[in-house]
Amino acid sequence: MRSLARIVVERLLVLALVAGWGGQAALADEARPNILFLFADDLTCQAISCYGDERKLLETPNIDRVAREGMRFDRCLVTNSICGPSRATILTGKYSHRNGFYNNTNSAFDSRQVTFPKLLQAAGYSTALIGKWHLVSDPTGFDHWQILPGQGLYYNPPMIRNGERVKTSGYVTDIITDLSLDWLKSRDRSKPFLLMCQHKAPHREWAPALRHLGWDEDRKYPEPATLFDAFEGRSRAVSDHDMGLDRTFTDLDAKLTPAPNMTPEQLAEWNAYYQPRNAAYEAAKPTGRDLVRWRYNRYLHDYLACVKAVDENIGRMLDFLDREGLAENTLVVLSSDQGFFLGEHGWFDKRWIFEESLRSPLVVRGPGVKSPGSANGRIVSLIDFAQTFLDVAGVAAPAEMQGRSFKPLLVGETPADWRKSLYYHYYEFPVPHRVRPHYGVITDRYKLVHYYGSDVDEWELLDRERDPGETRSVYSDPALAATVTGLRAELERLRVEVGDTGPTPREAFGNQPFEGEPAPPKARPDQPAGKKKAKAVN
Ligand code: CA
Repeated sequence: MRSLARIVVERLLVLALVAGWGGQAALADEARPNILFLFADDLTCQAISCYGDERKLLETPNIDRVAREGMRFDRCLVTNSICGPSRATILTGKYSHRNGFYNNTNSAFDSRQVTFPKLLQAAGYSTALIGKWHLVSDPTGFDHWQILPGQGLYYNPPMIRNGERVKTSGYVTDIITDLSLDWLKSRDRSKPFLLMCQHKAPHREWAPALRHLGWDEDRKYPEPATLFDAFEGRSRAVSDHDMGLDRTFTDLDAKLTPAPNMTPEQLAEWNAYYQPRNAAYEAAKPTGRDLVRWRYNRYLHDYLACVKAVDENIGRMLDFLDREGLAENTLVVLSSDQGFFLGEHGWFDKRWIFEESLRSPLVVRGPGVKSPGSANGRIVSLIDFAQTFLDVAGVAAPAEMQGRSFKPLLVGETPADWRKSLYYHYYEFPVPHRVRPHYGVITDRYKLVHYYGSDVDEWELLDRERDPGETRSVYSDPALAATVTGLRAELERLRVEVGDTGPTPREAFGNQPFEGEPAPPKARPDQPAGKKKAKAVN
């Protein structure tokens, strides 16, 4: 239980920050823009038409509209490619090792931390969060919240509204939008607003809105060049995965089993689409590459249908802003908690430092955003969101935040010292997908990665310029020895800068639930015992 004294201290800290640490006072209400944060779960750039994937998988006219009227970021990168940790990083502006949320299996968000919604709320913003939360502890810093418990359900999902369980009926993406519009209509109009509208879709098990079943007319999707990647010459960490279309796909993923919680009427509509196609599959009994191809096409039908509903519902939000005269003074930000593999390397899911899962979509429209329809290739990150939103609202960010406001990029300026590299660290292993912990440095061209754990201690160097599909490691290429040396130095510099030189937390957590401060951890395998720092992970 939190003591009253602790609550008072936290409140004072937030108020002190809002009062203008850093010498910057909040702007007057009329000058402060609203912030509409449109967020999806596992939405990847390959499924968004304005990102121009060569497979041309789906048209997303409403997301494209935000890009056309604003700015598209082509390298918005995550710092730990998985749901809960990305959300914690967005809220706090801190890396996983600083905000304490490392993975989805045994972390819970410590809601005592300073977050940007708390700071905006204290600065006079009306704040709401609606949709997927996935941080275990209850949301804080919001005047109103209505969330899905855990991962949530696609159909008729139970929700929790300001602590009280409530029922809903319909399709989750539509419901989250309905509730978001309801809140906007009833909001306190004397204040600017922050609305975080956070969709569950298109998260696994990719269950479409019933109106979108068969939307693609049984299209055979173009295959990525690496659908049958054999991982030759790659680290064992890469080849020994459990997230392949060939080995990991469940009956629920394949829709050989219906998604849960449908009404009899909904199930009848579902069966009318899937059952004849499933019967054809059972009759053909594909194996080997034919099976992978069948799964790939089923997967893309379902995943893209989910994105189609997200895009439609983003259109509903944009229309509302237009109708209410709010478009001009509302910063609209569309992003996701990471990217996703759509068959590249034979995978679904995320986690890896590789481009498809490392990169989140990010399109931004609103007051001050210059050059409508422009694309920005600078490295920005979800870790920058908190400071960017605070900057836009004229609220000072606390020094503990580890990102950087990209507001200058939005208004058409590029600071000379804008980052040229980013630090990454993924932790969750072995369940659910046997992706080994790894950390690394990312630049415009290269990635230097260290996979570590009880059975792996290997490095890879990836050159996106020569190998855009990231299919081979050139770490041992003698011609690149100086490049490796330089990147290792940069990696060490970043680890010191972000404070991740201490022990890794995975061993510290073991398989126990997160209960506050982790136990004293063991040394990381690549660190000589004498160099180990004793600092606890916080
Ligand atoms: Ca996610």
